[in-house]
Amino acid sequence: MALKIWLDGRLVNEADAKISVFDHGLLYGDGVFEGIRVYNKRVFELEAHIDRLYQSAKGIRLEIPMSTSSLTSAAEETVKSNGIIDGYIRLVVTRGIGTLGINPFVCENPKVFIIADSIQLYPEELYETGMKIISATTVRNHPLSIPPQAKSLNYLNNILAKIEALDSNVPEAVMYNHEGYVAEATGDNVFIVRKGMVFTPPPESGGLEGITRNIVIGLARKEGLEVSEKNLTRFDLYVSDELFLTGTAAEVIGVVEIDGRVIGDGKPGPITKLLRKKFFEYAHGKEK
Ligand code: PMP
Repeated sequence: MALKIWLDGRLVNEADAKISVFDHGLLYGDGVFEGIRVYNKRVFELEAHIDRLYQSAKGIRLEIPMSTSSLTSAAEETVKSNGIIDGYIRLVVTRGIGTLGINPFVCENPKVFIIADSIQLYPEELYETGMKIISATTVRNHPLSIPPQAKSLNYLNNILAKIEALDSNVPEAVMYNHEGYVAEATGDNVFIVRKGMVFTPPPESGGLEGITRNIVIGLARKEGLEVSEKNLTRFDLYVSDELFLTGTAAEVIGVVEIDGRVIGDGKPGPITKLLRKKFFEYAHGKEK
């Protein structure tokens, strides 16, 4: 079924949702975006995503041409109009139409569009068996280059690491920062469990501060687990008892092998399973 796309203040048919070839979002990856889940018609953590979108925009000196409350309503309206029950929203703000030069300030009108669609999940089986991943050789962007804390439209850094993963016949890769510490996976945050304690890199390690990550940290603490934000090395991943990834699309998924090293007993561990369950309950509004 054709989707209704929210574009510049109104819902239009998918076939009519068009962006100029002079838009700097396309020409230079100049813009910001969010990926958001819908669970049972409810837009999950919308406020946190809107907040991060405006922060990403501020970081790249892009002024979003509408208020946070009107953008929030637009996202909700797009979900409703497309009859989405469980799905995924892509919220995008581009720099807008400019010239062929990179100067962003000649682009007068940032474009805002919203897509609400169903989501292609990893097969359920992968959550049961756990995922095999690799370490990417592509280093995560230096924080003084394209700041990894801004969710910008320029994803080539992550795409190059994703290509390494796919070339190795695995779906994900861990990216390390310029100092050799774990930053994140190509579209997810990284956690390990060691001797019953949970560790994840702090945002200054060069990853996006994931909204799923922050929820999982809170849920783990609520379960009485000790969670520490700490720089992790590749070796820390190799000798972890459990390894898992978090993200809007992946939710919580166990990793059972990295670079040929088996993690734990080769199956998703008990803390990974517990946090996946708690996250599911939280997302579906059933947490106690
Ligand atoms: N890191 C990167 C590079 C991502 O693209 C994402 C997904 N948006 C994440 C981490 C996870 O963030 P979140 O939990 O907010 O989806």
